[in-house]
Amino acid sequence: MARYIFVTGGVVSSLGKGLSSASLAYLLKSQGFKVRVRKMDPYLNVDPGTMSPFQHGEVFVTDDGAETDLDLGHYERFTNISAKQSDNITAGRIYSDIIKKERKGNYLGKTVQVIPHVTDRIKEFIKCDIKKEDFVICEVGGTVGDIESLPFLEAIRQFSNDIGKNKTLFIHLTLVPFMKSSDEIKTKPTQHSVKELRSIGIQPDIVICRSQQSIPIEQRKKISLFCNVPIENVIETVDVRTIYEAPISFYNEKLDKQVLKYFKLKPKKKVNLLPWKKITNIVLRTKKEVNIAIIGKYVNLKDAYKSLDEALIHGGINNNIKVNLLRLESDNLKSNEITNKLKKVSGILIPGGFGKRGTEGKIAAIKYARNKKIPFLGICFGMQMAIIEYARNVLKIQKAGSSELDKNCFPVIGLIHEWNKDGKLIKGTNKDLGGTMRLGLYEAKLKHNSLIKNIYKTNSINERHRHRYELNNNLKDQFEKKGLIFSGMSPDNKLPEIIELKNHPWFIGVQFHPEFKSRPLSPHPLFSSFIKAANFY
Ligand code: GLN
Repeated sequence: MARYIFVTGGVVSSLGKGLSSASLAYLLKSQGFKVRVRKMDPYLNVDPGTMSPFQHGEVFVTDDGAETDLDLGHYERFTNISAKQSDNITAGRIYSDIIKKERKGNYLGKTVQVIPHVTDRIKEFIKCDIKKEDFVICEVGGTVGDIESLPFLEAIRQFSNDIGKNKTLFIHLTLVPFMKSSDEIKTKPTQHSVKELRSIGIQPDIVICRSQQSIPIEQRKKISLFCNVPIENVIETVDVRTIYEAPISFYNEKLDKQVLKYFKLKPKKKVNLLPWKKITNIVLRTKKEVNIAIIGKYVNLKDAYKSLDEALIHGGINNNIKVNLLRLESDNLKSNEITNKLKKVSGILIPGGFGKRGTEGKIAAIKYARNKKIPFLGICFGMQMAIIEYARNVLKIQKAGSSELDKNCFPVIGLIHEWNKDGKLIKGTNKDLGGTMRLGLYEAKLKHNSLIKNIYKTNSINERHRHRYELNNNLKDQFEKKGLIFSGMSPDNKLPEIIELKNHPWFIGVQFHPEFKSRPLSPHPLFSSFIKAANFY
């Protein structure tokens, strides 16, 4: 039977619960255990799909088409296990399921309440779709003390009672700040946070203390005493130089050892930290560098393009090159400043996006990349913008645009009418925005003798999608005549998936999001090739 590890956070948000869960998952997996990592988000959106990246960072997409929290990206990248729809739930989805059931009369006249109905549904989520896993690591979003988190904390408290203390473990992650004025490390916020958790009936078994510097034994003892946790279960996590160091750092702090000890388990094999050591070494020591510009709308928010930033760094790891990311806000990018702003970059990337703001800046940057033969990668919206740029400046369709952005344009890009999913036809819509895009894995057939085929070295690929608009297929011939190559198509030949240019060393647009499948231990070929090309430029 699976053992369940619950990870909560206290004091402040953004402590790195996701990264801690992912690192622990790696350490356990590497010692021969089957692991699953999932996340419960307390907000009322049914999924993060309709949220702006400014609110919540990137929306991560799974193979099976779930729009999820970006922490699932961390889990995948560290464990190399693909996440599923069943690995992320929000309070919004729980309430929406319950209200649907209530309207059907399924509660047989009962009053529907947070306890037991909401908590039961949360417990159902925790256990669902678990087969032979040894460990299920379940992260609770938010911070202890938030009103929204309460039903989740109550549910995990009950869960531990239901299946037994020896099958559940609570990890609480807190901040241990350093006060410059008194030159002291302060444990009080941790004490208060654990007190809050205990007041709702949860006694943490392990406390992970995030700190800027190592926590002296005296303070550890204090945390142990006040938080009622054995001293060896007070684990410190000092800021790492690169996230790839996190599994090594948690191993050195014996997090996995304490977890196994708690469950009275022995490792099935020796942990392998070599890949992380190798990667850390490359990231920290490589002298060769390449500058890549990411031109988008959400560049001021660090997590808005999380998987993309990661995938580019992975591409660098594969080529032994340090990738410097230059984030440029497309809104402020005027065509007359482009040469100046982009003169030091060797690769230009336009990421996914929605809405009109900043599109002209993106189009101007694409024109520059095309004319100057700078390696260019357009992802989803980025590919759509590249098609519009080509239509305007090469096909001379002055009013070329996308119906997503401008009702009066010549719609080179328009709403997808329908697509095929597992033999079923799905109708496109832009009326309801939640969960109605073409989402998840779809196949693309690659053209012979194309750059893309040379990169993937296969005839067909499966990549993750998240879009609602596509190239107007009637214009395909016109584009082809003018040197745009459709080097990847959906198997029914209806949806262009990849474009490239005849007279350009490396110009690729993809309708999917390759960044979601790139992992540090197996970098994505498209990003490796892009960085390689940028290095040659
Ligand atoms: N807004 C575009 C569409 O819906 C692109 C989406 C994206 O980049 N993920 O098709």
